[in-house]
Amino acid sequence: MTFQIPDSEPNYQALYMHIPFCAKRCAYCDFNTEAVAFGDPTIDAHIEGLVALLQDAKQRGLTDEIKTIYLGGGTPSYIGAERLQRLFDAIDIPVLEFTVEANPDSVDSRFITVLKDSGVNRISLGVQSFSDQELVALGRIHNSTQAVQAIKSLVEAFENTSIDLISGIPEQTVKSLLANLQRAVSLEIPHISVYPLTLESDTELFEAVAQGKTSIASDDEQAELLEAAADYLEGQGYEHYEIASYAHLGYQSRHNRAYWTAQPYLGLGRGAVGMYQAAGSRYRYSEQGIIEELDPREQAAEDLMLRLRLLEGAPEALVEQTCQELPDALDCLQQLIDLKLLEQKNGFLRFTKHGWLLGNEVFRRIWGLVA
Ligand code: SF4
Repeated sequence: MTFQIPDSEPNYQALYMHIPFCAKRCAYCDFNTEAVAFGDPTIDAHIEGLVALLQDAKQRGLTDEIKTIYLGGGTPSYIGAERLQRLFDAIDIPVLEFTVEANPDSVDSRFITVLKDSGVNRISLGVQSFSDQELVALGRIHNSTQAVQAIKSLVEAFENTSIDLISGIPEQTVKSLLANLQRAVSLEIPHISVYPLTLESDTELFEAVAQGKTSIASDDEQAELLEAAADYLEGQGYEHYEIASYAHLGYQSRHNRAYWTAQPYLGLGRGAVGMYQAAGSRYRYSEQGIIEELDPREQAAEDLMLRLRLLEGAPEALVEQTCQELPDALDCLQQLIDLKLLEQKNGFLRFTKHGWLLGNEVFRRIWGLVA
């Protein structure tokens, strides 16, 4: 084990572990993951590496304040119940929320039993669409029937189930996106995330678009899709509590909230990123070492951007702190208010509905204050 988990002050509040393996790479995906056969010993070696890191973290007291755990991928459900059991035995940390990501093609009764017996209480399922045509366009290996079956068994076993959907898929219309959302709502899923499709270089989809074989939604079309999604889900009683996420009361993701409120988090496994504070700076690290260091000015801009992701927005005290670190922030934020992208409400600065659709522009301006 060459990677050393850094100490953090205050101590880590959340734990993220990464399983960088999938059955097949999807057409749009540029995540740090690889398609490997189920029996490949690389997967076993990765699990053993995680187990060793966990033991080290526990011995050093770095997990003492952890409140949420998230096992993401890749596809954690793909590696099978036995390997997951080995990992869960090593984790054994009592937490408020323990999420595991899964894909519909690898959810079975053994997987569900192992998770339930190990204290997992939240599932995030990569559905992406309920249209077989859209799933093919994304290069997913599951179909809509598998997605519905997986959801039904997960919703029965776990009160807290979330699904991911994608907007802007080739050929997708507002009508077909709404059909996906209607399906999700009818399956009584308490948490739904809708992510806009982005074109990443070195992906099959990127090549197909470059060759003119297909196209994804333009920015304007994407805004129209996301607005329709927000209107529909809000009308169905879901709270739009974060840019991409909707939840019934009590089902917001606690783990993601730790990211958005800049709490230190432990990141273990190839592709995982951790964050810690030390001597006034904020650091992000991966197994390759420190990948980012933010000074107090950069931290101020980042804190504001992270908090703005949440429906309630940034508390006034945090906005004032940002303006002290970055004197030009006052003018910048006033301009964003004048443009009706941000608004002040109940002691918080937050996105307007219109502003959330143009979130990248707002973030670009705030980060520009640091330059
Ligand atoms: S399943 Fe998820 S992580 Fe794996 S290739 Fe597809 S999008 Fe990427």
